[in-house]
Amino acid sequence: MAKIIDGKAVSAAVKAQVAEEVAALREKNIVPGLAVIIVGDDPASRVYVNNKKKACEALGIYSEEHALPADTTEQELLALVESLNNRSDISGILCQLPLPKHLDEKKIINAISPLKDVDAFHPSNVGAIMIGDYHFLPCTPAGIMELLKAADVEIEGKRCVVIGRSNIVGKPMAMLMLHANATVTICHSRTKDLPAICREADILIVAIGKAGFVKADMVKPGAVVIDVGMNRPEGGKLCGDVDFASVEPVCSAITPVPGGVGPMTIAMLMKNTLMAAKLQNAIR
Ligand code: NAP
Repeated sequence: MAKIIDGKAVSAAVKAQVAEEVAALREKNIVPGLAVIIVGDDPASRVYVNNKKKACEALGIYSEEHALPADTTEQELLALVESLNNRSDISGILCQLPLPKHLDEKKIINAISPLKDVDAFHPSNVGAIMIGDYHFLPCTPAGIMELLKAADVEIEGKRCVVIGRSNIVGKPMAMLMLHANATVTICHSRTKDLPAICREADILIVAIGKAGFVKADMVKPGAVVIDVGMNRPEGGKLCGDVDFASVEPVCSAITPVPGGVGPMTIAMLMKNTLMAAKLQNAIR
């Protein structure tokens, strides 16, 4: 039977560590602060923003929400980002994506100060990750690295296949596995003979957004399988990109959905907010 990698437990441990460090900073009169911007009324974004707010409260991090109407102009949004960049009580700024179509996401991300970019989406932070000399890591890939560590998965020298090449998950994930000395293959919708490539993986990381896409015949016996997918089929329950029922008997370890990668993303956001506060106060 495969080991089920418990994201809830690992995220609780990360959060406990963050809470401890936040309390120590507060003793020095430094309070980490997170500003979350949400534009429009996308229900999924609303849930994510509420969860982020709750996590901040639980860990002693100050948070404020800027809920803007869907018809907010780019100028208005850029002015808000600029004002948050200039505030010393705000350590981290996060703009919940996706933004309404008339707003240029790239322009908004580029406007966030790289020192406050707790999502690590700013090009200078992306470049820093490429070089391997960074302060912030994007939350989901960073959370997966924590899960692999907690599950004692050896990475060095292993074959890793990442399915998905988004800027948020797939690409940075591949880079982190490369930094950890895995031999990495990145697959996408134009990859030929995907199942055969997947079957070579000692560690298979799936981030495509298609419910139950990876079946047992795509998994090498004994592989570690990380399921990033968060899909909610019409009226159905939250499920991953991996067909858990068929893959679990084949692999050696697997993350469930829910309760795997999901809880890690917020924990790593909290860690990044703490890191931002330390950076801005020149604390190591
Ligand atoms: P995305 O931007 O839509 O990217 C999806 C990637 O999957 C693309 O690179 C795409 O290839 C590839 N793909 C799509 N169909 C494919 C196929 N049939 N075969 C091979 N590759 C295929 O998605 P994302 O933002 O990376 O998110 C992926 C999933 O992770 C979603 O379910 C999302 O909800 C979830 N997610 C979860 C968390 C979390 O905290 N757990 C965080 C972020 C995202 P092309 O580039 O060729 O189009």
